[in-house]
Amino acid sequence: MLSEKLLNELNEQIKYELYSAHLYLGMAAYCASEDLDGFANFFKVQAEEEKFHAMKFFDYVNEKGGRVRMQALAEPMNDYESILDVFEKAYEHEQFVTKRIYTLMDIALDEREHATVSLLKWFVDEQVEEESNMEGIIKKIKRIGDHGHGIFMLDAELAQRTFTPPVKGE
Ligand code: MG
Repeated sequence: MLSEKLLNELNEQIKYELYSAHLYLGMAAYCASEDLDGFANFFKVQAEEEKFHAMKFFDYVNEKGGRVRMQALAEPMNDYESILDVFEKAYEHEQFVTKRIYTLMDIALDEREHATVSLLKWFVDEQVEEESNMEGIIKKIKRIGDHGHGIFMLDAELAQRTFTPPVKGE
C-alpha cells in the first residue's frame, strides 16, 4: 500500500515522464525542420524511452494497488536557436528530472517503502545515463561547431539510434 504522499508524487512523475516525451518530440520536430533527420531520430527514440519510463511508473502504481490519474501536459518549447541550444535545453531538462527522482527517493527512504526504493534505484542509474548522453553530444557539437560537415557526420551517427526496451529486471 502506497501512502497518499508517495502516490501523488508517483502520479506527478508519470506526468513529468510524458511531458519529457512531449518536449523531445518538439525537439525532434525542430531538428526535422532544419533537415537534420538523424538528430530528429535521436529525439524520437528519446521520446519512446520517456514513454517507457512513464509506463514503468504507471504499471508500478497499479501493481501496488494505487490509482493512476492522468494529468494535463504543458505545451513544450517548439522553437530553438540552434542544434546546440536544443541539447543544452535537453540536458537542463534531464537535470531537472534527476532532481525529481531524488525527491521521490527521499520520500520513499523516509517512509521505508523498500519496493519503491528498489524501483527508483533503476531510475537513479538511468538518469546518470540520460545526463551523460546529452552532455556527451553537447561536447561533440561544441568541438565540431554548430553547422557544416561535422554536424552532418553526427547527424548520420544519430540516425542509427533505435529504441530497445530493457529486459525486465535489467
Ligand atoms: Mg525519463
